[in-house]
Amino acid sequence: MPVTPTRWLAEYAWLPEHAEPTPDVLIEVEAGRIAAVTPLIPGSRPPAGVEVYADATRLPGLTLPGLANAHSHAFHRALRGRTHGGRGDFWTWRDQMYAVADRLDPDTYLALARAVYAEMALAGITCVGEFHYLHHRPDGGAYDDPNAMGAALVEAAAHAGIRLTLLDTAYLSASVDGQPLAGPQRRFGDGDAGRWAERAGGFRPTDSHARVGAAVHSVRAVPADQLRTVADWARERQAPLHVHLSEQPAENDECRAVHGRTPTALLAEHGVLGPDTTAVHATHPTSADLTLLADSRTGVCLCPTTERDLADGIGPARRMADAGIRLSLGSDSHAVIDLFEEARAVELDERLRTRRRGHFAPLDLLTAAGVAGHAALGWADAGRIAVGARADLVTVRLDSARTAGVPPVGVFFAAGAADVEQVVVDGRVVVAEGRHLTVDVPTELSAAIEAVTPA
Ligand SMILES: [Zn+2]
Repeated sequence: MPVTPTRWLAEYAWLPEHAEPTPDVLIEVEAGRIAAVTPLIPGSRPPAGVEVYADATRLPGLTLPGLANAHSHAFHRALRGRTHGGRGDFWTWRDQMYAVADRLDPDTYLALARAVYAEMALAGITCVGEFHYLHHRPDGGAYDDPNAMGAALVEAAAHAGIRLTLLDTAYLSASVDGQPLAGPQRRFGDGDAGRWAERAGGFRPTDSHARVGAAVHSVRAVPADQLRTVADWARERQAPLHVHLSEQPAENDECRAVHGRTPTALLAEHGVLGPDTTAVHATHPTSADLTLLADSRTGVCLCPTTERDLADGIGPARRMADAGIRLSLGSDSHAVIDLFEEARAVELDERLRTRRRGHFAPLDLLTAAGVAGHAALGWADAGRIAVGARADLVTVRLDSARTAGVPPVGVFFAAGAADVEQVVVDGRVVVAEGRHLTVDVPTELSAAIEAVTPA
């Protein structure tokens, strides 16, 4: 029996490389892929080849390609709103984060991640990169299935209806000079990179919504002489490789003290940089670091709301883009899960730094939130409303209190996650009328967070 295409008639759709959205676009979906994209000319007859569109389902508002959240630690969602009572910095926040990490097991993590990924679906996120290092039991011993925690995350994404790249993270030491993991960090570690590779290599989810990549937690957490093992593992599999980079000036200082070079230079020397590599944050790079990133075609994932929340600083986004570095976006600590907010922050943070406006065009922000994020996670066939691409369609209301009167091209400066009306992932409707179809997100978030937060 032939598969009947699903036809959507978008009031506006943002098509690839277009500076602004196009009105009245017929989008046909077949077997999870976009089969045809036809802009209709208002008042005219349907273009040749388009026989019927009266049967198309109308999508009022602006339909975007799927958004990609290129950097996530799902369990950090449990800390939202709980770490703001006193002063402190990244390092005091990290101690609170460890207290939650200590309480997770495969069952509680499945429940929490399922709710967090469903919150992402509500925000129009169709794919997430999970930077995963909670591998073992709290005392560092392996679970019966040594990848039980990773498997829980894959299952959580399936329940939430989004795709996932599990970035299996090597986390082997506590400091740049190789101090051993202690206390709550013990469950992150595999001992050495060879044992990390063995465990990670044993995890091969067959689900079509998931793929596995690799991550170096940071130059703090992987000794220099073991960086290449992780990089080679990713390269052999043509898998994405991510790494936290220069989020904190202290990391730069320690790396210079121990290795006599910046973290970026150290990663370059040990083969970590490259076109399949994404550096996360890169908030405090030198000019020479930017050249190394650009020359190696390494991408950068900015996480502006986290960098803001943790008082990290402002990364040089415009300088990176000018150097040809492709930018993607992540919600990282999930103080906020809203890629509209992340995207406009890239522009607005530049304004604060330079006291000038107009650094990034709306299309640049969409590219970072969509196709660039998907590419950074290894899904090169997603993030575009184009024939052959995965049928990810995110429809944003243009009649909410926030978006009423806003021209469609202005959506990244007006909309928030709450304005997402419908989300289609791989041709399947996951969110309709602003509600997740299978997960009661607020109720499940409350229960899952209560179960893992210290009283
Ligand atoms: Zn992170």
